[in-house]
Amino acid sequence: MTERPPSYLFYQGRNRKPVLDQARGVYMWDVDGKRYLDGSSGAMVCNIGHSNHNVLAAMREQMERATFGYRLHFETEASEKLAHMTAARTPEGLNKVFFVSGGSEAVESAMKLARQWAVATGQGQRWKVISRSPSYHGCTLGALAITGYAPLTAPFDPMMRPMPKIPAPRAYLDGLDPDDPITGLHYADMLEECILQEGPETILAFMVEPVGGASTGALVPPAGYMERVREICDTYGILMIADEVMTGVGRTGRFLATEHWGVVPDMIVMSKGYAAGYVPLGAMVAHDRLVDPVLDEGGFQHGFTYAGNPLACAAGVAVLEEVDRQGLCANADAMGAVLKSRLEGLMARYPIIGDVRGKGLLLAFEFVADPHTLAPLPRELKAYDRFVQIAYENGLIVYSRRTRGGIEGDHILVCPPLIVTETHIDEIVEMLDLSLTQFMAEVEPALAV
Ligand code: PMP
Repeated sequence: MTERPPSYLFYQGRNRKPVLDQARGVYMWDVDGKRYLDGSSGAMVCNIGHSNHNVLAAMREQMERATFGYRLHFETEASEKLAHMTAARTPEGLNKVFFVSGGSEAVESAMKLARQWAVATGQGQRWKVISRSPSYHGCTLGALAITGYAPLTAPFDPMMRPMPKIPAPRAYLDGLDPDDPITGLHYADMLEECILQEGPETILAFMVEPVGGASTGALVPPAGYMERVREICDTYGILMIADEVMTGVGRTGRFLATEHWGVVPDMIVMSKGYAAGYVPLGAMVAHDRLVDPVLDEGGFQHGFTYAGNPLACAAGVAVLEEVDRQGLCANADAMGAVLKSRLEGLMARYPIIGDVRGKGLLLAFEFVADPHTLAPLPRELKAYDRFVQIAYENGLIVYSRRTRGGIEGDHILVCPPLIVTETHIDEIVEMLDLSLTQFMAEVEPALAV
């Protein structure tokens, strides 16, 4: 790596990273000329791949016209068009689109709109948002309060109002059959129990990631779960909010992951794939019946300076057009099936892989010390970190966390851009295979002891 002066930048830790030079399609190059295959689309963001010419052209065109117009002063063609395209792609009735700059902002916006709707409709006693553990809904204090992942939340606990959590379904770890609808009911019942225990009249909303993201490692809900939690929310007049920040815009093989179960939430939040990394952008989409009373009562007391930024919206429009033009939802479905079966092939050869799961191109595998007991790898191995490093050195970017459905363990997310071909998948699997061989050689002595 090129010698560099000390950095004034800081993010998580002290480790320096290679300096990015260029990115095209599924590949990225650092300034030393090393090539990486972006096997995690950054953080499951770059769904349409890097440097798409049509998106860049649309952004250039918008930049020549206007890059900023404050939302309380102007509407723009770009923001109107994106709102229209978004409403057309979300379920009937969800026609109100509120722009933000990222996932946490989208989640905050949904929580606050839900609360204002409750106040505007004479249900001021409703304020609790039930969520699941593990889950990830963002890093701002409101979104963090409903995040179920202690390593991220613990330092901030005294600064947040505690919100009720229920366990996220993790059938395989609990020894249950994910395809048996009884399993779905078993986990959904936990929502009802929580509602009854807290007092149904105090519950505002249930926030759910349709397919778990980084917090769970692509855990897919068991049969019947999503349908049943929708019913429970209806029974108690509770809003169902789908956090599709990661799953939205085709990642799981449908435009929205909730479509897999035919479930219609009251609100949907999206971000990552929405502008696919070209600009910071997100959206909260709400049912008309939630927004109208709030507007009637004086308006939504919420909004960010950069909301509806013309450049961001122009990029968003062009990204959605590319998703359609290239048929990326269908490609995610088809290539996801290919990649999943290739990961299962690796699991058959490497007993250190205990589970392969996910939908579309939101896929993960996890490490176990013993495939029968599903015991995790020892913490000291820092497998989640070490494996990612080995893959990185081999030219493959993957994403990982030290958690398996909320308990000890390590999972690795493999989520390439939705433009991947079988040739790219061959390349990904080859690099995973090599990385697994090298990783096994390192950890085997520790496991044998
Ligand atoms: N919700 C989910 C499901 C996410 O995956 C993320 C980001 N990983 C967020 C919310 C927060 O998004 P952001 O980092 O853009 O604020």
